Amino acid sequence: MSALRCRGVTPEAQRAESFARLRDFLGREVLRYSPFYRARFAALGLTAEDIATEADWANKVPFTSKDELRDGFADFVLAPNYPGRKADPRVAEIAPSEMARYHAQGERMAAEAGDIEPPVSAEERQYRAFLHDWQPILYTRTGGTTGNAAQSSYTLSDLHGPFKRCALFHHNMVHWSPEQRFMSLLPAGEHLGFYGNLLVPILNGQPLRAMMGGRTVSTENQVLVAAKDGTQALYGTSSYLVNWLETAVALQAEGRIAGLPALQLLSASAEALSEGYAASIRAALVKLGAPGAKLVQGMSSTELKSGGFRECDEGMGLHVDPQHYFIELIDPDTKLPAEPGKPGVLVWSHIDWHGTVILRYWSGDTIDGGVRYDACPGCGLTVPRLFPPFRRLVADFIKVKGARVDLAELRAAIETVMPRDSYQIEIIGDEHGKLSIRGYLLEGLDAERFRALVFGTVELRLDSVALCTPAEMQHRLYGAGGWKPRWLINEQAP
Ligand SMILES: [Zn+2]
Repeated sequence: MSALRCRGVTPEAQRAESFARLRDFLGREVLRYSPFYRARFAALGLTAEDIATEADWANKVPFTSKDELRDGFADFVLAPNYPGRKADPRVAEIAPSEMARYHAQGERMAAEAGDIEPPVSAEERQYRAFLHDWQPILYTRTGGTTGNAAQSSYTLSDLHGPFKRCALFHHNMVHWSPEQRFMSLLPAGEHLGFYGNLLVPILNGQPLRAMMGGRTVSTENQVLVAAKDGTQALYGTSSYLVNWLETAVALQAEGRIAGLPALQLLSASAEALSEGYAASIRAALVKLGAPGAKLVQGMSSTELKSGGFRECDEGMGLHVDPQHYFIELIDPDTKLPAEPGKPGVLVWSHIDWHGTVILRYWSGDTIDGGVRYDACPGCGLTVPRLFPPFRRLVADFIKVKGARVDLAELRAAIETVMPRDSYQIEIIGDEHGKLSIRGYLLEGLDAERFRALVFGTVELRLDSVALCTPAEMQHRLYGAGGWKPRWLINEQAP
């Protein structure tokens, strides 16, 4: 299939084409091979023919919730039956036209493999081509507590197709060059943050140093590598970028590096980039001799499968690929499309992905700055662009005794004063709704100051503050196997 146009096209024509591809994908693959959506559409008495327009889509197709996904990840994986092999009665057999394609592809694979592999039959080669198209080969899941983590799977055809196209969007920035040297600060783990920042530069043919996180290579050593290598682009979580750059500033003060003047681009993702974090990063860049380096934001999620939606330059909005995503912005109260330019919850659908495929996913992310569809003044691409601030309806706010607590604000305020990974706040409710709110702080830090900071920012009163050794704090924050610190534990009854 040809690439969807992103230049020299009107937003309306592009949206119509994106929807046409979604509609085609629905009939051709999703409603044939997805156990979940085949059953759902059947239960509603709906077929692909009933979805002719965007209005049909919005009115007839229900949202898919996080709970539905978490109750049955396997049923969201497209899994056609293969002739003559064990069949799942819930899904259809692969289309005959595809079988002809797999036959031709199998022949090509045999020619490329030369005489290395043991000889196999033409039928076996055809089956292997089918597996490359449909068998999940890469899994990602969110960190944190076990049990209800989100999961996704990718096929080989996903990595060569939609994922590679997503990776191309990372070329789309004013300061990109084909020789730009990247460093990924994402810790190693079975999560998209790590794989995304590994695969995107590799698929783009960019030089990459993957540091696997501070517990594999100390932050100090990472900085020394970056200084020696002349690293130009850094990918990291927002909070770790802050800490990493502070370490670099300290090493510079000790005379161990001469700044990091080669830095051109920093991409902050996986956590909200608060104004406090951004200001701290910019101040460090000035000290390190890289005042012109750009700080761009990205976002993705396990379910989304993208290598990340990202800005092409500061303030341009996160660019979405309309070839592989159909996005809607929905008013959280009315559940109807938000007015143009107004905030709403991001609802998205996969187009032409295999492996895990989700339609009309209620992400829970609010896009407070709204969406624009016109040509980007930075790069000239006509694609949907999401404008910050972004918030997770569930994760970024909690209710404590009836009051709404803004967690991004709280964390940013604490981390402008306290070192990273030095504290934890725990809110536990008993069966009568009585809350205990405890703070944990690294020994040597000022407990009264911590208490005053939490109260001053969000009017949350800590019942107690316990001091922890570095090992105790490390266990509290990362002991559940996560890759982002569990700085807040919230166990209130919903
Ligand atoms: Zn742009």
